[in-house]
Amino acid sequence: MKKYLCIDIGGTAIKYGLVTEKGDISHKETYQAYFDGYKRPLIDTITSSVNEYHDKLVADNIVIDGIAASVTGDVNPKTHYIVDSCGNIPDWRNINLAEKIFNAIGKEYPFTMLNDANAAALAEMWIGNAVDFKDAIVYTIGTGIGGGVIVDGKILNGYKGFGGNIGHMVIADGEDICTCGNHGCFEHLASTRALLRNAKKAGFDVDGEEIFEKAKSIPELQAVVDKFFYYHGVAIGSLLHIFNPEAIIIG
Ligand SMILES: [Zn+2]
Repeated sequence: MKKYLCIDIGGTAIKYGLVTEKGDISHKETYQAYFDGYKRPLIDTITSSVNEYHDKLVADNIVIDGIAASVTGDVNPKTHYIVDSCGNIPDWRNINLAEKIFNAIGKEYPFTMLNDANAAALAEMWIGNAVDFKDAIVYTIGTGIGGGVIVDGKILNGYKGFGGNIGHMVIADGEDICTCGNHGCFEHLASTRALLRNAKKAGFDVDGEEIFEKAKSIPELQAVVDKFFYYHGVAIGSLLHIFNPEAIIIG
């Protein structure tokens, strides 16, 4: 069975795993990426850790059939370039990731990479909650909102691979500025971070889990929660009209 060295590159950690063609994961390893506030550039943490991880697999006599990377930020799957990070990670732009990894390990492999939200959507379609659907939208709510759009069984990458970035879909007039520099973005209004920011503005210091329970008995807090769901409703309404999916999967 074919096995792939897989890398999940996030803003806070770099996770490794050996994934079979059936989706089974073994040899999991995590390396911290934000330990010194990126004084050490993220790409340097990747090149040193991938070298170490690759050596371990080779020492275990594992035959690697390819390398796949799920990458935070705007990435181009065709050219293997990291293009930009919307200002979230310093120096995370204009990097040929495949070249950096091959140089670090001293060997070339078949290579593929995707934006992390698109990779998550693809995984849901492959072995997750979207297996029964050929047209679906997957989005996750966290610090931001990451999305992936599946059209006729394929991820919608767009011209340069930035497609499906629904977190920066503008859904309202807004005075606050999003990390992307625009106003009224879906993620700026309806991420978990936005929910807690609005709760704090209303005078409530709560976390992302207790807010829903507490809101049941506090009308002012319930109003904040209602607004959060309202924005998700607005966004989902637009997505339904544009893509006509069979399912929208929210994580
Ligand atoms: Zn934005």
